Amino acid sequence: MQLVLTEKAKKLMRLCELEGYKSPHDLLEAVAGHSVCPAICMTEGCDHTAEMEPDQTEGYCDACGGNTVTSALVLAGFI
Ligand SMILES: [Zn+2]
Repeated sequence: MQLVLTEKAKKLMRLCELEGYKSPHDLLEAVAGHSVCPAICMTEGCDHTAEMEPDQTEGYCDACGGNTVTSALVLAGFI
């Protein structure tokens, strides 16, 4: 078993915190069936969040300029 949280898991937890959800489960329940989904920049040190398509993996980050914004559903492994 891998005990260290992966980068994706860490970002997902951070996104929940920033969006005010207690857990990834709450966030995923809240966005289920919606056309947009909370997303977070994957660059280390940049926690910019945005609303993106649920399957977004390379969204543009307004904060650091990278195509690095990934949706919560992708981070959670749902897509
Ligand atoms: Zn960024």
